[in-house]
Amino acid sequence: MQQALIDSLRGSFQGRLLHAEDDVKPFLSDFRKRWTGTTLAVVQPDSTEDVAAVVRWCVKNNVTIYPQGGNTGLVGGNIPDSAHTPNIVLSLQRMNRILEVNPYNNTLTAQAGAVLQHVQEAAAREQRLFPLSLGAEGSCTLGGNLATNAGGIQVLRYGNARDLCLGLEVVTADGEIWNGLRGLRKDNTGYDLKHLFVGSEGTLGIITAATVKLYPQPAAQMTAFAALPDAQSAVRLLALAQQQLSASLTAFELICGASVQLVLKHAPQMRNPVATDAPYYVLLESSDAEGEAHAAERFEHLMSTAFEDGIILDAAIASSLSQSATFWQIRHHLPEAQAADGENIKHDISLPISSIPEFIERGAAAVQSKLPGGRIFVFGHLGDGNLHYNVSAPAGSDAAAYQAMRDNEKTISRAVYDVVTQMNGSISAEHGVGQLRVSSIAHYKSPLEIAMMKRIKQALDPDNRLNPGRVIAPPHSL
Ligand SMILES: Cc1cc2nc3c(=O)[nH]c(=O)nc-3n(C[C@H](O)[C@H](O)[C@H](O)COP(=O)(O)OP(=O)(O)OC[C@H]3O[C@@H](n4cnc5c(N)ncnc54)[C@H](O)[C@@H]3O)c2cc1C
Repeated sequence: MQQALIDSLRGSFQGRLLHAEDDVKPFLSDFRKRWTGTTLAVVQPDSTEDVAAVVRWCVKNNVTIYPQGGNTGLVGGNIPDSAHTPNIVLSLQRMNRILEVNPYNNTLTAQAGAVLQHVQEAAAREQRLFPLSLGAEGSCTLGGNLATNAGGIQVLRYGNARDLCLGLEVVTADGEIWNGLRGLRKDNTGYDLKHLFVGSEGTLGIITAATVKLYPQPAAQMTAFAALPDAQSAVRLLALAQQQLSASLTAFELICGASVQLVLKHAPQMRNPVATDAPYYVLLESSDAEGEAHAAERFEHLMSTAFEDGIILDAAIASSLSQSATFWQIRHHLPEAQAADGENIKHDISLPISSIPEFIERGAAAVQSKLPGGRIFVFGHLGDGNLHYNVSAPAGSDAAAYQAMRDNEKTISRAVYDVVTQMNGSISAEHGVGQLRVSSIAHYKSPLEIAMMKRIKQALDPDNRLNPGRVIAPPHSL
């Protein structure tokens, strides 16, 4: 039966089909090795028409579809579910062509499987900037970025993937092709359908290509790494930087002292850019159109005002692009350092920026009530009110203590999310829902919001064929 399905599927489209155990293995577990799945086959179409043909074959044979890009997602939406068989992984990786860079319209159109870094490089070759930037940019794909509405380090200035998207091409759940690849900044002709698919995590349609916004490349970039006495000072520094640099401020990352120590422990070749041990650090960057001297003057003025006002204890300003890269390495190495340190419970939350210092205190109390001695690693995109708030077992824990933390994960996360919700925050800022947070969003969103989401799912994917079990819990009937 399985072989007959594979043979029939192979004949239905032009691209590559993988089904040998070793070939499909890399597509069946995630970056953190937290989820594994099973599949009939991994299908890698070469064209949009191929994607549509595969979807129509799945409709005919009642097979479910798990779309996948670079497989860097952190919430398990990218991994097929053993509960929904037979299924295929529909991998967009071979559809990776840049179709057009238009420097006059400031747009780029690419197939969904184009790797984010290649999209950035294609824009740069035309002296343009595609500003979406995140730690996984060497592997994640444009389609995956849009499907998850990815954020990253420059949202503060340029917005998230949704803000950068002008048009989409999508294969619907019944195998039709919608060509919405418009490079328009204004288009008020009814419901803006692309926004349904952005952030839908592959549950409403398969993104096969996208048109995105480009910007002029900055003439000068300044980066600083600053030590701060507390989280409130980070909020004050952000306000001061926004006041003095306005739109030039492109990144503002908070890193707690424990997180910096963790990176230095697991990557001893790295150095803390400042000599001062502090409870918090901020990595901030500005991008100017007006040249280096002007940028340096404004940036140095900002840092000296912050120092005089007692907002920062110490700071290092990068004197070259390579020094700036070493500052960023500390930030980018955090996920790896955490993985090397043992398991942790990840939370990707957002809050009103002004509430963040209070949240850090209340969140710590909530964690300690459920996991006494638990270690908290806080870092993230403070400029967007987005914290990665990760909880680890107490220092020196043995395997049994880690198991106890795992068993208690839901209770610990609920304690954190209760505080987030009481403070008008969101329990998923940029990573999405996937399978990790399906029950949590059902708990925290209002019944009306969940009902509207189910109606949209029901309208666009009535057979629950696309990424079932992700984002909203079945059944999707009204
Ligand atoms: C080291 C590291 C750092 C990260 N940093 C950030 C960060 O700063 N900000 C951030 O937002 N995220 C971050 N992420 C998460 C991740 O990189 C992003 O979510 C990324 O956008 C996923 O892209 P992908 O191509 O890997 O998608 P995948 O992981 O393959 O898929 C993610 C989801 O999108 C769906 N999907 C993928 N492609 C398509 C498509 N063409 N059509 C429809 N659905 C599709 C999948 O079904 C799945 O639900 C990070 C991840 C890692 C490993």
